[in-house]
Amino acid sequence: MSIFDDFIRFDENENLSYNRWIEWDHFLIPNKPEWYREILRNLMAIFAHCMSCSALDGCYLLDTNRPKQPLHEHCDCRKKDISFSKVENKSYAECDIAKFTEYVFKNVRDSKGKNKIFYDLGYSVKDSEYLKKEYCRQALKQYLLGNYKLKNLDRRGQRLAIPTDLKGKKFYSGWMLCPEGKIRNITPFGGWIK
Ligand SMILES: [Zn+2]
Repeated sequence: MSIFDDFIRFDENENLSYNRWIEWDHFLIPNKPEWYREILRNLMAIFAHCMSCSALDGCYLLDTNRPKQPLHEHCDCRKKDISFSKVENKSYAECDIAKFTEYVFKNVRDSKGKNKIFYDLGYSVKDSEYLKKEYCRQALKQYLLGNYKLKNLDRRGQRLAIPTDLKGKKFYSGWMLCPEGKIRNITPFGGWIK
């Protein structure tokens, strides 16, 4: 990492582009604490402020890879330029180990669920801690590279599909974008990358 990271980046096609990041902003919504943020979001919703918009408040996005503004008629959202160093310093990925222990590896070996993919790759419930850490490591790296796809946006927030690689097999995992650079895993497997 160098001082130039604040200005330039390489996109997925290895083209040089400007590493411009923004913080989504909706007035009156605090980034934290979460309970207070939720109270204000719900309160603002009573006054017809869109919850998809307030869910984006405080989130860091690459300016060239973000929902458009305005998001809808009478949208109050703004964006603030922020330095990549700030994004890099504050961002972190979070994954509940239960995503593996209670979801991926919950069912028996020969069940037809998504867990078959993980068993086929040679993983078992014993690898949950490793997978959790590996998912977070990869997702944070890809997020900071701006290498994410915008998926569903609703009152709970903006979902991102992030490329993940396990033993050379490439697929998307699903993440929720949260304020101040936090991303939280919601789906360990969201489809193969062709
Ligand atoms: Zn808005």
